[in-house]
Amino acid sequence: MSDCIFCRIVSGEIPATVVHSTDRLIVIKDAHPQAPTHLLVMPRAHYRSIVECDDPTIFSEMLCTAVEVAKKHGFADAGFRTTINTNSWGGQTVFHLHMHVMAGRKLDEKMS
Ligand code: AMP
Ligand code: ZN
Repeated sequence: MSDCIFCRIVSGEIPATVVHSTDRLIVIKDAHPQAPTHLLVMPRAHYRSIVECDDPTIFSEMLCTAVEVAKKHGFADAGFRTTINTNSWGGQTVFHLHMHVMAGRKLDEKMS
């Protein structure tokens, strides 16, 4: 998907700060962080959103990777938030499946 910004990051065409990488996923720093730590966990393969993803094993890999990164970076015990925005009402702006991982401060208790 040459018109997908995250596919272009996965291929290395667009630079990003990659903090973790596996054969199926990468984790990058969000370009516009909403918390002291704001990471994006994304599959290397292009899925427009969780609705279009036909490989459910990717969901558990994304969560397990978030936990692994949280432990490695030392914010697992303090806590963190994982969020997947989906389509228009979910607030998705980049249409390549990704999960936000936010940490480093007490996050707003409101989910909206
Ligand atoms: P969402 O609104 O859930 O689709 O999240 C998209 C996220 O991607 C936003 O938090 C953006 O700040 C982030 N983002 C957009 N472009 C880039 C980029 N080139 N590198 C890193 N993060 C990006
Ligand atoms: Zn893509």
